Amino acid sequence: MTRIALRLQVVRSVPDLRTWRAARQGSVGLVPTMGYLHEGHLSLVRAARRNDDHVVASIFVNPAQFAPNEDFDRYPRDEARDLALLDELGVDCVFAPSVESMYIADFSTFVVVEGLSSRLEGKSRPSHFRGVTTVVMKLLNIVQPSRAYFGQKDAQQLAIIRRMVRDLDAPVEIIGLPIIRDADGLALSSRNVYLTPEQRESALVLNRSLRVAESMFAHDERSAGAIRDTVTSMISSEGLAQIDYVSVADCETLDELQSIEHPALVSVAARFGGTRLIDNTILTPLP
Ligand code: AMP
Repeated sequence: MTRIALRLQVVRSVPDLRTWRAARQGSVGLVPTMGYLHEGHLSLVRAARRNDDHVVASIFVNPAQFAPNEDFDRYPRDEARDLALLDELGVDCVFAPSVESMYIADFSTFVVVEGLSSRLEGKSRPSHFRGVTTVVMKLLNIVQPSRAYFGQKDAQQLAIIRRMVRDLDAPVEIIGLPIIRDADGLALSSRNVYLTPEQRESALVLNRSLRVAESMFAHDERSAGAIRDTVTSMISSEGLAQIDYVSVADCETLDELQSIEHPALVSVAARFGGTRLIDNTILTPLP
């Protein structure tokens, strides 16, 4: 096996990251990830590389955002490959802390964005966003980035992080970037590796149903109910899909809409076998 020397620095503890940060001037871009990187993650890294003087990517499978019955233990991991990809894109520093260094033995402080965190994903994953906002706030405090980059793939997460940063006056600009899809339309996700070929084929219905929602909207459909019903019936007609929710909601408040007068988030969650997938699109009325 040939080992290629990495230009990037791998940092595994909070004090070492603080030392790295203290020696940097200019802007710092942070891309938080749970690793097992794909083009979706890499699109965030490329944007950070374009915008910022220094780029930090974090790789941390955060136990606080997984419920006991979820896939924390089997979540896919391949750090060597991730580091090689990040190095190639010119990332300066990878923060890959251990669980113990992020959550010390008597850790007891959590950040909760009320309301938004209990909708949509929060209904089936009640403690999920508490874990997300806590770890993101920790990463913001540790790295002190000028900008932090997140994917629209996790639209609710992005809305919650924007709200947290606004409410707590965190000195960072949050950048949201579009969903990256495979050639067949499936939104990239580290969890796609769990899908059998049949489940993957079935899962394409998520993207197909969202394209139909966009087309209805483009043909002047403004009834959220009509769009919700069409998307629901398309997904439920797919044998292997078990719908968790189909939502047409206000982009910022995530309140379910009756009619679409402002930008609306159409979001879906469904299980294909044991794998739960999410996808979404935004419908924006012209002024
Ligand atoms: P994760 O590793 O799943 O926690 O994702 C890390 C970041 O990558 C989050 O901001 C996600 O929203 C973003 N991301 C994941 N999948 C995609 C995708 N298909 N397109 C764009 N961003 C993505």
